[in-house]
Formats: sequence, structure tokens, C-alpha cells
Amino acid sequence: MYIHFPWCRALCPYCDFPVVVARGEPPHHAYLEAVTGELEARAPEVADRALRSIYLGGGTPSLWAPACIAELVARVADRWRVDPAALEITVEANPIDCTPERMAAWRAAGVNRLSIGVQSWEDDDLAALGRDHRMGDGPAAIAAAHGGGFDVVSADLILGAPGVARDGTTAPPSVAAAVASGVAHVSVYELTIEPATLFGKRARAGNLPVLPEDDLAALYEATHHALTAAGFEHYEVSSYARPGRRAVHNSLYWRGVEYLGLGVGAASFVRAADGGGAVRQVNSRRLGDYLGGGAARVAERTPLTAHEVATDELWLAMRTADGAPAAALGPVGDWLVAGGLGVARGDRICPTLRGFLFADQIAARVVLMRKE
Ligand code: SF4
Repeated sequence: MYIHFPWCRALCPYCDFPVVVARGEPPHHAYLEAVTGELEARAPEVADRALRSIYLGGGTPSLWAPACIAELVARVADRWRVDPAALEITVEANPIDCTPERMAAWRAAGVNRLSIGVQSWEDDDLAALGRDHRMGDGPAAIAAAHGGGFDVVSADLILGAPGVARDGTTAPPSVAAAVASGVAHVSVYELTIEPATLFGKRARAGNLPVLPEDDLAALYEATHHALTAAGFEHYEVSSYARPGRRAVHNSLYWRGVEYLGLGVGAASFVRAADGGGAVRQVNSRRLGDYLGGGAARVAERTPLTAHEVATDELWLAMRTADGAPAAALGPVGDWLVAGGLGVARGDRICPTLRGFLFADQIAARVVLMRKE
């Protein structure tokens, strides 16, 4: 179950997520009502499935009144008759929301995993990324989360802040700081410039000192080596975990497991009852449409054939360290190994570090070759 809370205090210049800038307090309870309304309307689609995880993403779900999060978690757990303690329940949190009071309220609501948007331990990166928090806020949030009894704390890092010079042969200082902070999980993202963002506009105008692709790749490799040397397992393109701390929620996505997405802009993937295909649904990104409910709530509903679902499963699997079955990849597997992008392990082809770097190109190739 994915639940999207769209409000943020400000719009980051690189952000292409469904976001509503909060002018004053978000409508906490009205949004809770809308999401629980969608929950009740759509739960029958997946009522017989096992619930494994609840993930509150955004936006900035740490802005949502903790009482609303508690109510929603209780409603979902009750609907599926499951003890919240048996689930992975994650909240994405802005460091500045990680106060002892909120930590205690989230824990009491059953939240057991915090994904903290630290992004960097350095002020020059944070300023270049246009973030609303500063260097001290991230480490303080992590310490508070550990002190607040969270089983798993994850930190997000962004590589390639524009205009910040880095020596590509060594990992950015944030990586050592993340390791020293004791977090169980690190998500590493290369900054991508999306066309419909402020950074996209500045890049088109030649007014954004974007890191060259090769330099960004070198930073990614240096970060990979530093994290794996510190005992983290690189288990997905962007994800590193200490042993036994892989994210359940994201791992389910990559294994092609069904998910229900509730809230503004949320995506869902539900297989057909006869096993022959699936439907991908994306909710409207427009708050008014979503709150209005009914048909306007849905922006896209795409039926997928069994072949399309199997293709998606293959390229998703190739984003993970476990790779995909060689037999299912067919000639794509040979192409991966010949190009140094994949390596055979038992009956699977797993991505190399180079394969992780070229994950998007691999996905495109898998789709193309299965069309031929
Ligand atoms: S906090 Fe996250 S979701 Fe909100 S605007 Fe910034 S990047 Fe986007």
C-alpha cells in the first residue's frame, strides 16, 4: 500500500513529483477523509491479497498531523485484519519535522521505518539543491530517530548538486558521514534534470552548471565503493542496506508484486483475477480532481497484457542485484554479458556495477528486444 501526501513547504527546483505547496496548514482531516474514501472504494479490488507494507511518501508526509497518520494506518490494518507490527510501515520525513514529539507519535501509530530526506551532509550541496533544511538538521534527525526507537532509519543522498565541484575519484564526504551516522539503509540518487522543473528551465536557458554525465557516473562509482566497503549491500540501482535491512516495500515493487496507491498522483498495479494481465492506474495530480472524488480522481487506467507484465518484471528485476532468470531474458542476457552489463550467477543474469549505471538503457533494450 502506497499513500501519497502531496504537500511540501516549498517546491524544490529539481522536483517532478506530485506536490502541492502548503500555504499555511495543509487540510489534514479533509485529506484523510479523501484518502480513506478512496481506500473504502478500492479495497475490494485487492481485499484477498496479503498486506505486507504501508509506505507514506510525498510530498512531505512528515507534515501530516500524526493523528491522521495513526488513523489511516489503523484503518488499513483493520481492513486487512493484520497487526501493524507485522508490517513494514515507512514514513518519508523531512529532517526538520523529526522532533521527539512526532517521533513518539509515529512510533505509537505503528511506523517502524523512517526514510529521512537528508540529501547531503554539506551546506553547499543543500543550497545548490534549493533545500529548506541545512547541514545540522539531517544528522540531528537521524540521531533523534535512533533515539526514538525506529528499527530502520534510511537516509536519502543526492549526487551531482549543480555547481558544486567534486573530485570524482573519491566519494563525497556525505557518504562517510552517512555510514558514521549508523543508518541501516542509504538511497543514493543521481540528480536528474526533469524538463518540467525550475532546473529544467534553467538548463534549457544554459543557466545551470550541470555536472557532466561522466563525472556523475564517477561519483556514483566512488559512492558505491565507499558504501560496499563499509558493509552495505548494493541491492538495487539506488539502494544500499546493511545486512538484513533491505526495504521490504521497494523490494516488492521490483519483484512485480501488486500495489495499491492512494492519494494525489499515486500509481497502482493490480493483476487481473484470471492471471492474464494487469491494470496500471495513476491518480490525478490535481488536488481539486482528487478531492472531488469519482471518475475525475483517476488520470490514467492502462490495461497491460500478460506479455507486457512479464517484460516489466524482467527489466525491474535487472535493476536489482538478484537479476533476472537467464532463460526468460533469452538473447538479452547474452547481450548483457557480452557488454559487461551483466554476469551469470547460477541460472540468473545479475547486473554488474556498469549494468546498474546503465539500468535505464537496459530497461529500454529489454522492452525493445521483447517486441521483436
Ligand atoms: S521535499 Fe521532496 S517532494 Fe517536496 S518539493 Fe522537495 S523534492 Fe519534491
